[in-house]
Amino acid sequence: MIDDFEAKGKRKRLVAELKKKGISDEEVLRAIDTVPRHLFMDPAFLIHAYVDKAFPISSGQTISQPYTVAVQTSLLEVKKRHRILEIGTGSGYQAAVLAEMGAKVYTIERFRDLYLKAQQTLRSLGYEADFFYGDGYAGKAQYGPFDGIIITAAIKEIPGELLQQLKTGGRLVAPVGDSSYQVMTLMIRENDDSFTTTTHGTFVFVPMLKGTVNGK
Ligand code: SAH
Repeated sequence: MIDDFEAKGKRKRLVAELKKKGISDEEVLRAIDTVPRHLFMDPAFLIHAYVDKAFPISSGQTISQPYTVAVQTSLLEVKKRHRILEIGTGSGYQAAVLAEMGAKVYTIERFRDLYLKAQQTLRSLGYEADFFYGDGYAGKAQYGPFDGIIITAAIKEIPGELLQQLKTGGRLVAPVGDSSYQVMTLMIRENDDSFTTTTHGTFVFVPMLKGTVNGK
């Protein structure tokens, strides 16, 4: 797969735009500057790869807006070797940003074709992540507990089962709300049964749905 000077230049401008919009985590900005987002998108949208917008991928899903990826990733406070669980692999772009930051990434997708494609894309770019085809509602307790859990689809409420898979001090970031809009919610596990919750602006995501889809 190819990256080139034109794409690199566009990424620099995107990073400058994200800084203006208030993103300050240098590691997040470096990862966005490094990961070639255009290689995660349908070829028809290549020209738009470095515009700060969400775009359609296959199966009626979307690759998140770079600003949204930056906000969620900043809230996770990713450190090298952190174990991070992502629900909603989609294109794999968010997973690649986390891997670029040195996280050990576990990511779940309910569409089989997206699960296969994202895996291929990350491999071809040399990023490592563990991919799972399945329904993310139950998380992946056998690979936890996690330093961070990131949900990249709109969810009505955060399942207790996922919260239980966080380490003490671990952070869960999720867009919580109905289909019209969601509130970016950060929950930090203070101890066994106590969490602090803060909110971080409104966003619009595709919905988190139950079950899996095998085929197009
Ligand atoms: N993080 C992605 C954007 C994902 S869009 C990226 O960087 O491209 C949301 C994704 O969540 C979609 O691919 C959708 O199929 C998936 N999804 C929705 N409900 C799910 C569930 N219950 N389990 C796993 N994935 C789910």
